Amino acid sequence: MTQKQACNHCEGKGYTNIRDCAGEIQRTETCSFCSGLGYQEQEPEEETEE
Ligand SMILES: [Zn+2]
Repeated sequence: MTQKQACNHCEGKGYTNIRDCAGEIQRTETCSFCSGLGYQEQEPEEETEE
């Protein structure tokens, strides 16, 4: 059983905003931490159950 946790890198959105030095959003980029899913599946480190 896996637990879905919102990705804290993109705050669950699945993408991150790329900003320029003025703080303007230039583009969005798929979050590489969760592959754009917005969450990360984490298996419990203990009590692995099928
Ligand atoms: Zn993410």
